[in-house]
Amino acid sequence: HAKKLGGNNFQFFTHKLNEMAHERFALEAELRHALEHGEFVLHYQPKVDLATGHFTSMEALIRWQHPQRGLIMPEHFIQIAEESGLLHQISKWIIPTVCRQIRQWQQQGLGQVSAAVNLSASFFQHRDFEETIEASLLETGIPPESLELELTEATIMSDPQRVLGSMAAMKALGLQLSIDDFGTGYSSLSYLKKLPVDKLKIDQSFIRNIARDNDNAAVVRAVISIGRSMQLRVIAEGVENASQLAWLQAEGSEEAQGYYFSRPVPVQKMTALLREKANFLHNPRGRVQAR
Ligand code: C2E
Ligand code: MG
Ligand code: MG
Ligand code: MG
Repeated sequence: HAKKLGGNNFQFFTHKLNEMAHERFALEAELRHALEHGEFVLHYQPKVDLATGHFTSMEALIRWQHPQRGLIMPEHFIQIAEESGLLHQISKWIIPTVCRQIRQWQQQGLGQVSAAVNLSASFFQHRDFEETIEASLLETGIPPESLELELTEATIMSDPQRVLGSMAAMKALGLQLSIDDFGTGYSSLSYLKKLPVDKLKIDQSFIRNIARDNDNAAVVRAVISIGRSMQLRVIAEGVENASQLAWLQAEGSEEAQGYYFSRPVPVQKMTALLREKANFLHNPRGRVQAR
């Protein structure tokens, strides 16, 4: 194209931008269609208790089951959904869906199952948010502590006063709160003390080469010790192999989540894992490779 335009870079770039805007517009329309036609699905990934090898808590992660293009991961659509305002509608679908799923598992006698949802900054700050949570709890009647909210440091820091208020309201309802991707943001320790959180999720970037990278190891040790002194549970994300697991057990991380135990799996597979009381420490067959 550049050649055809006789090296007119400006024209070339505006053309490129138009193309991108067009693609973006098309994607937004497709996302809207996806929401209306029920193309979003939630997969669930276990959070393994390192004391027992069992799990009853898990994280809900969204995927787009596209009729032609197959399963699309959130990195390809979450940001555009957020920027176009559609994540708001999507979140209003996710929360009741997860609550209904929790109720179903609990009613099937699969234990005090709990699940976490990831929340975007804009939805957390919107007034619809508290209503959606309250309505979903009321409708399903699940114990509020069965629902966990994951917020990133960036979300918290985007509007600390406001977010702190909503967090307190959620805590008053009885929900569990975690800080996701912990260690990647800029929350100060004095601020952390004011937050009504239950759990710190150590970001997977620190776990990746924990046995060889002294800096990452130092960060993880520090988070575990902060957790201990502030009475917060600590969970490591992105555990992919036995040596990472051994390191975390030795350092005293309470929970872990990652492909080593199980990939995020569809509802049916998760139901089977709950039913067989999969033990991820003592029974290597408990590990799940399927998506
Ligand atoms: P996150 O909340 O930090 O989720 C963890 C991500 O790490 C998930 O990616 C999960 O599949 C992946 N993961 C888990 N174990 C391992 C591992 O051992 N190794 C590696 N390399 N990755 C692992 P996923 O599902 O693609 O989600 C990416 C991000 O998209 C999430 O990060 C979250 O920020 C966002 N997201 C996902 N679902 C939702 C949602 O329902 N709502 C919102 N607002 N954001 C969501
Ligand atoms: Mg998360
Ligand atoms: Mg995370
Ligand atoms: Mg993340």
